[in-house]
Amino acid sequence: ECKGKYMVTMYYYKPELSEKIEREQEIVNEMQTALDENQFVVYYQPKYNLRNELPYGAEALIRWKHPTKGMIMPGAFIPVFEKNGFIGKVDYYMWDKVCQWLRKRMDEGHESIPVSVNVSRVNMYNPNLVSILEDLVKKYDIPPELLNLEITESAYMDSPGVMEKTVMELQEKGFMILMDDFGSGYSSLNTLKNIPVDVLKIDINFMSGVENQRRSECILASIIRMAGWLELPVVMEGVETAEQVDFLKSIGCGYVQGFYYARPMPQNEYEDLINGVRQTPVESISENH
Ligand code: C2E
Ligand code: MG
Ligand code: MG
Ligand code: MG
Repeated sequence: ECKGKYMVTMYYYKPELSEKIEREQEIVNEMQTALDENQFVVYYQPKYNLRNELPYGAEALIRWKHPTKGMIMPGAFIPVFEKNGFIGKVDYYMWDKVCQWLRKRMDEGHESIPVSVNVSRVNMYNPNLVSILEDLVKKYDIPPELLNLEITESAYMDSPGVMEKTVMELQEKGFMILMDDFGSGYSSLNTLKNIPVDVLKIDINFMSGVENQRRSECILASIIRMAGWLELPVVMEGVETAEQVDFLKSIGCGYVQGFYYARPMPQNEYEDLINGVRQTPVESISENH
C-alpha cells in the first residue's frame, strides 16, 4: 500500500525524524483534551535574595501530568505549541492559574509574593496581549506588580520595534518585565540597550559550563557590574552548588534561582515552604540591584 511504502522509506533514511513527527502529532492530538482536563499544572520554583538568603517570589513553570505517560517537561511540548499556535491558550491558562493563586493568598491574608510567568515569544506579537493581561489582573483584583513577565531575550530578534513598544506598554500598566535567558542570544547587548526591562535573568549556560568556567565567571562578573551601572536587579538561573553561591555573592549578584535552594515544586509544597517564612519585601527588588 502506498502510504506504508512511504513510511518505510522515511524510516530507512531518517528514523529519528519520523519518530519526532509522530511524537509531535501525538502532542497535537492530545493538547486540547489536556487543557480541558486540567492536565497542565503550575510548578513554583522560589527565587532567593542572596543578601539575606530569604525567598523572593517564584517562577511559575508548566508541567504536563499526562494520564498514561507521566510527567512531561515543557521542553517536549512548548516548541510544538509555539509552532501550531496553541501556546496562546496554554500561556493564558498558566497566567490565569497564577493570578487565581495570588488572589487566594491575598484572601488568606498572606504577605504579597511576586510570581513570574513565562510569556512565549509568539504571544509577544498578539496585538491584544496588553489588554488580555490587564483584564486578567482586574478579574482577580490583584496588583499588576505581582504578576511579573519573563520574556526570552531572543524574542527581540523577531521584531525589535514590536517588542520595544509592547514591553513599554506593559510597564505602563504596572507589570514588571524580566529579560529571560540573558546572554543566550546573538544580540544580547543590543537588546539590552533597546528594551528597557526591569530585571535581568542570566542564562543558565553561564553557570553550568565546566569547560569554560573561568571565561564564564569573567563574563558573569562583568554582566553583574554592568547591571549595577544600569541599576538593574539580576537573577542568576541554574545555581546548583555552594561554590556557585559563594562566587555569586563575591561578585555582588542579588538574586538566584536554582536546585541548590529549591527545585520547581507543586503549589501545596511551595505553600508549605513559604508559610511562616519571612520573604524579601516586594519593593526591595528595585532598591537592591
Ligand atoms: P526558563 O523560563 O528559562 O526556566 C528555567 C528552567 O531552568 C526551568 O526548566 C527550571 O526547572 C530549570 N532550572 C531551574 N533551576 C535549575 C538548576 O539549578 N539546574 C538546572 N539544570 N535547571 C534548572 P523547565 O521547567 O524544564 O522549563 C524549561 C523552559 O520551558 C523554560 O525556561 C521556559 O522557556 C519554558 N517554559 C516553562 N513553562 C512555561 C510556560 O508556562 N509558558 C511558556 N511559554 N514557556 C514555559
Ligand atoms: Mg523563565
Ligand atoms: Mg530562563
Ligand atoms: Mg533558560
